[in-house]
Formats: sequence, C-alpha cells, structure tokens
Amino acid sequence: MRLFRSVTLLLILLFGASTDLFCADQFVVVLDAGHGGKDPGAVNGKAQEKNINLNVALKVGKLIEENCKDVKVIYTRKSDTFIELSKRADIANKADADLFISIHTNSATNKSAYGAETFLLGVEENRTSANFNVAIAENKAILYESDYETTYAGYDPNSAESQIIFEFMQNEHQKESLKFASIVQNRLVNTAQRHNRGVHQAGFLVLWRSAMPSILIELGFISNANDMKYMTSQKGMDELSQSIYLAFNEYLTETRNGQNKTASVVMESKPQTEVITAGIPVFKVQFLTSKTVLGKKDSRLSGLSDVEYYKDNGLYKYTCGATTDYNKIQATKKEVNKKYKDAFIVAFLGEKRISIDEARRLAGKN
Ligand SMILES: [Zn+2]
Repeated sequence: MRLFRSVTLLLILLFGASTDLFCADQFVVVLDAGHGGKDPGAVNGKAQEKNINLNVALKVGKLIEENCKDVKVIYTRKSDTFIELSKRADIANKADADLFISIHTNSATNKSAYGAETFLLGVEENRTSANFNVAIAENKAILYESDYETTYAGYDPNSAESQIIFEFMQNEHQKESLKFASIVQNRLVNTAQRHNRGVHQAGFLVLWRSAMPSILIELGFISNANDMKYMTSQKGMDELSQSIYLAFNEYLTETRNGQNKTASVVMESKPQTEVITAGIPVFKVQFLTSKTVLGKKDSRLSGLSDVEYYKDNGLYKYTCGATTDYNKIQATKKEVNKKYKDAFIVAFLGEKRISIDEARRLAGKN
C-alpha cells in the first residue's frame, strides 16, 4: 500500500495529475443539461428545451446523490446559464470523469415525429439520415459562441460537409459508450414507456471533446404535442429522470463488478426472483428474436416472468425464467412452449453464452 502511494505520488508529480490520492476509486459522472441562458435550444410555444434538459439533469443528479453516496456528480450547469460546448467537455475532462451524460430535447418540422433516442459519437453509414440532422441541429449551439471558428477547428455548423471531421476522430471509448447508451435507451423504453427510436451514432461536438464514455440523450420531441406535454409534466420529468438514474446505476454496478461480466445482458426493470452469482451458469428460455427492443407492454412478452434480452449479432434475443436450476428451467420451457413452440433453453456464464452440456457440467460442480 505504501509503495502504491509512493508510486502514485511520483506519477502525480511527473504528470501533474490533480486526482485526489485517497479517492482514486470514486466514480465521477458529469450531467450536462444541454443549452441554457441565451441559447434556448429547441422551442415550441412557451416550452423551451433548455428548461426541460435542466429539470431532468437536476433530478437525475439528485437521485444519484441520494442513492449512490460514493459517486461524485458534477453538473455543467445548475441554473439557466449559457455554457460553451467545448467548456462542457472541458469540465468533464478536468474532473477526470468516468461518464458524461448530455441531456437534450429533440425537434422536427414533422410534428408527428416522437419518441426517445440515445446517441454516441460516431458516423453512421447513411449520412442523409435523420440522426445526422439531429447532430447538426445540436451543434448549432456554437453559433451563440463568439469565436466558434477557432474553438472548433473550422467546424461550420451550417455545412453538412463539416461533419466529415468526425470520421477522423479516435474513439477509444466507443464500446463503453455504446453499452451505456443501450442501457439508457432500454430504460427510456421500458421504465418511462417512451417510443423507441433506438441507439445511434452521430457527430456531436459536445461528445467529440470529452475523453470518457459519453452519450447524448434526446428525451423526446418538443415539436410533438404529446411528447412536449409529457416532458413538461411532473410525471414525465420524474419518469425520465428515474430511467436515466436506473440506467446509470446498472452501468455503475456492471463497471464495478468489473470485467463486465454482464455487459451484454440488459435486465428488465422487474427485480430478479433469484440472485444470480457470478461463476455459476444460468439457464434461461429463449423464446423470441427481434430487430428492435420491444416495449414492456408488448403483447409478445405478456404472461412471461423475468423477461430479459441479450444482444447478439445486432439482434435482441429475448429470454425468460432465469435460474441456476436445470430442472426448473425445463419446467419453465414446457410452459413457454405453450405460447412459443420453438422456445429453447440457453445457458450463460456471466455474459458469455455457453453450451447446455458445459453449463450442466459446471452446475454439477457447484
Ligand atoms: Zn439540444
């Protein structure tokens, strides 16, 4: 321990890091309420994006502070103030944050567009897609900054071609960002019952500058009457905040359990009936494969308990009845087969899918 401290101290002296020596393990999350002050973001009548973003960010922060005492929450803004995009990333970088969550509200000329989506930095193949336009719209926030040409290396928010800079960026945190984005999107859909617009990649300046896993959430469309009503209601703000908090908690647990044992298994909000211990194989009944995440109330999931999904080859594979007991899963399979005659048993060790034979062999040992 002594040696460790000396080495750490030496590293700090050498590289000038300002991390608190004794809180090296503290998880730091940055909550970034998009826009603010002279930049209202998207607007619809009296409703302004900046206020929705701030309300939700503050609520998420409060939930984390109350429930995760060992997590440090940093806000890029806690009031109606204007903060430059590059400064938001700087705040996170300077704090050596572990996670960056930027909260926004979408808008479209088509007033029927609705639902929530979650982004990470990147470039999707289809450059004319709506996702691409979301990033361009959000990046226009820099037009409120006095010297954006210099700050953003010539990025022109009025030119779609400028998006090309994102193709040459390094994104070492993409895997973690994607993992967290997927957990958040799953919560927005299943906990807040938002219409699922999916997880996408696009070139957001605010994510470009942050050197940690980072995502940008579009809570809903301010341009859509129903979404707007929801996002400005107490119920809506509570549910959206709860969803983001629960997603954060899941991600934190997975990160701390380290080694990402459950990385690709995204739990439903329902608590597990059985505590699953790492190292012991778990049996589940796989009954459905879908290209998209299904809503919690989807009729295809009704009547089944402990529904979860895992991602495999870009598909969402739905399972139910997680248990370490092989006899129990056989009984569950029989039940599920009444509704899904092709449902079959699958086995996992941590996040890894293993053969039934291997799982039974391992289970026998425990
Ligand atoms: Zn925005």
